[in-house]
Amino acid sequence: ILDLKSILADEPYHIANCANRRSSASMPRLTALYSNYRHLSSDLHKRRHLRKQLAAEFVKAAEMGEALQSVEDAQLVKEQIGVLEGQLSEIESQMREEMTMLPNRTHPMAPIGGTEQNEVTGTFGPAISEMPSIMDHVELGKRLNIVDFEAGARTSGSSFYFLKGQGALLENALIQYALTIAIKHGFTPILPPDIVNSKFIAACGFLPRTDGARSKARELPVYTAEIDGDQESDSPLKVLAATGEIPLAAYYSGEMLAEKELPCKWVAVSHCFRPETGHHGVESRGLYRVHQFTKVELFVIKDADPATSDSTLQDIVAIQREILDGLGLHCRILNMATAELGASAYQKYDIEGYFPGRLGWGELTSASNCTDYQSRRLGLRYRTDGGVKFAHTLNGTACAVPRIIQAILENHQQLDGTVKLPKDRHTMEANYLEVVNQ
Ligand code: AMP
Repeated sequence: ILDLKSILADEPYHIANCANRRSSASMPRLTALYSNYRHLSSDLHKRRHLRKQLAAEFVKAAEMGEALQSVEDAQLVKEQIGVLEGQLSEIESQMREEMTMLPNRTHPMAPIGGTEQNEVTGTFGPAISEMPSIMDHVELGKRLNIVDFEAGARTSGSSFYFLKGQGALLENALIQYALTIAIKHGFTPILPPDIVNSKFIAACGFLPRTDGARSKARELPVYTAEIDGDQESDSPLKVLAATGEIPLAAYYSGEMLAEKELPCKWVAVSHCFRPETGHHGVESRGLYRVHQFTKVELFVIKDADPATSDSTLQDIVAIQREILDGLGLHCRILNMATAELGASAYQKYDIEGYFPGRLGWGELTSASNCTDYQSRRLGLRYRTDGGVKFAHTLNGTACAVPRIIQAILENHQQLDGTVKLPKDRHTMEANYLEVVNQ
């Protein structure tokens, strides 16, 4: 499924690409394995040939009634073949692992470097308001009695919370609001399971990490899910999905679609579970980085035309912008630099919102064009008149609920300590957000 020949043919590109993306994958390790592989397989080929020759001599000698001189040689060659076959299968699996680790190719427009190279491509939303006496969302949530962090900590641990009363209604209103806009743009709603087999995390380009520690670029901290009876059987390790993208990608694992079925556009309401630890200060305060949250996620499977995948990514960003703009948030769009792309994205845009309580920007959405990176690992193909191709996958956040609640509370607080939500300008016929203004 991973095309070794084309990877090796493009060795200099992959070496530079790994360096630009600060990936721990190693092209030199892959080429060294391949050269060893070729060496051993030519040896194996010779020995198999020799075994054939010895077998022929064996038959001839038997026919002539002569003594069988080559029995020991034949035994030795058979053993050598066995050893070589074992070594080759070990190298093959190491090569597969190295290839799987290689990051996707990178869009030529992605700036080279780390966070400091992310390029602001636009801003939108109202000007940042200069409120006297700004409260942060933790204080506001307490005063309005809509978020209860203490109860969350008691029942589940730190970074868990309860949404109550208008807070609970606000989560549901936001889900419905994001769904309505996505559906208007041709997405079909879907509710995926929260538990997935861990192999799908790797197929999406992440390494599942079960110790909860702060992750490196391609690692995804996950909670494991123990299901009664699983331990005794050979069932694969199950984990709580860290993002809706994983069950949606898994849904298509091994699929052969017809070209006319594409594009498939899903909008999922998913629960995300992230045991990320090691964040401090504003990063870990309140709702910004929690262990469990609801996320409305856009997921597209389309044909392998690179030009239309580029424009589909722009369409996803436009939907994200429409959703955030409707919430009256001041935002900026970032074309993410190479070291920020993870393993799977060919190109990625984040939208950051301004959080008065943090006195700074914070990520609200992310959108990635993964081209055929995930579908090659998932075995997701489609049939065209000209043959079979790997599909392209793209994903984007429509609404990561707690962060949006945080942004809404902090940006729309009034002098009297209440919060006034903007009227939903984009879905006037279904003004779900009105509910929290009651
Ligand atoms: P990701 O799936 O990591 O691209 O995240 C999508 C969006 O979810 C981000 O843009 C954030 O708005 C939000 N998000 C990510 N991690 C967390 C978290 N631990 N707690 C709350 N929101 C999060």
